[in-house]
Amino acid sequence: MNIIVLVKQVPDTQNITGDAMTPEGTVNRAALPAIFNPDDLFALEAALQIKDALNSTRTGERGFLNSGRMACPPTNAATEENAPEGANPRTTVTVITMGPPSAAAVLKECLYRGADFTALVSDRGFAGADTLATSYALKCAIQKTGAYDLVLCGRQAIDGDTAQVGPQTAEKLGVNQITCVSRIETLDATKKEITAIRSVEGGWEKVKAPLPILVTFTAEGETPRPASAIKTMTYKRAVPGDGPMALWDIPAINADPLQCGLAGSPTKVKHINSVVLTAADIRYIDPGEAGVTELIHDLIADHTFG
Ligand code: FAD
Repeated sequence: MNIIVLVKQVPDTQNITGDAMTPEGTVNRAALPAIFNPDDLFALEAALQIKDALNSTRTGERGFLNSGRMACPPTNAATEENAPEGANPRTTVTVITMGPPSAAAVLKECLYRGADFTALVSDRGFAGADTLATSYALKCAIQKTGAYDLVLCGRQAIDGDTAQVGPQTAEKLGVNQITCVSRIETLDATKKEITAIRSVEGGWEKVKAPLPILVTFTAEGETPRPASAIKTMTYKRAVPGDGPMALWDIPAINADPLQCGLAGSPTKVKHINSVVLTAADIRYIDPGEAGVTELIHDLIADHTFG
């Protein structure tokens, strides 16, 4: 099984300092430490757990273990013997990120945790990409990897915060999608079927769907594993364009430059304000009918509602 994971390096917007914004109104990425987007770590962990389970050697129990035994272990899981000619029965995890050269740091983190292959999709032509252009470039990069069964990504990135890239990438790939997943309950590698638990308002939902599929994860799943010391020693000198870390530009992923970056972005982020609430901005509302009615009138008056 080929699993693709999409991860993003983001500015640590949860530790905003004074000079987080440039005078032009863009995110001052140099001022903010770059971190691994939190939701993406849970997508990576889910991929690595599937790989561990499907590559486990214990006879007759291949399948996806998740908080207890798997619902329906496939009887004839892929083995060396019954794998079609040339097919790789082993499950692999490939991680893709679109970003500047510094984004290679999150790919190293993925190798330290157990990813098999990584690709940095980087080109000046990707700069200023909105979610449409980002999902287009990611679609092209995923197709470059060849056949895939699962695409896993975070529900949301903490900088753009749109939660649009996952669903848009699924649409562009022409595959099903399950969003806001907290955990995968079963994965049948033989029947090519998945069952996942989604977090919905006020509860959860169990969804069953055929593969291939794109799944977006919330930060509610299995705790992401730490980096392995051995893998860290193995990959700490990995650089883009070498061995387990490929470097792909626009031509390498057969992308149309007019659909990438600013050129391919109908949305232009004009200006970003960092909203810092002061005491004056906080108003206590009487929780009674009168107070709530007054609040609704005010919200209508300042066009927050309606
Ligand atoms: P999300 O859609 O929230 O990301 C969801 C998941 O997709 C991530 O968890 C990750 O798994 C995957 N993913 C996202 N980006 C990448 C990547 N580069 N490489 C690999 N995987 C990735 N663009 C718009 O189109 N509309 C807007 O309204 C908009 N508002 C913005 C507001 C701010 C403050 C900023 C900083 C940017 C905004 N952008 C907007 C641009 C948008 O951030 C970028 O297009 C970005 O690359 C993707 O959107 P996102 O950060 O919202 O990601």
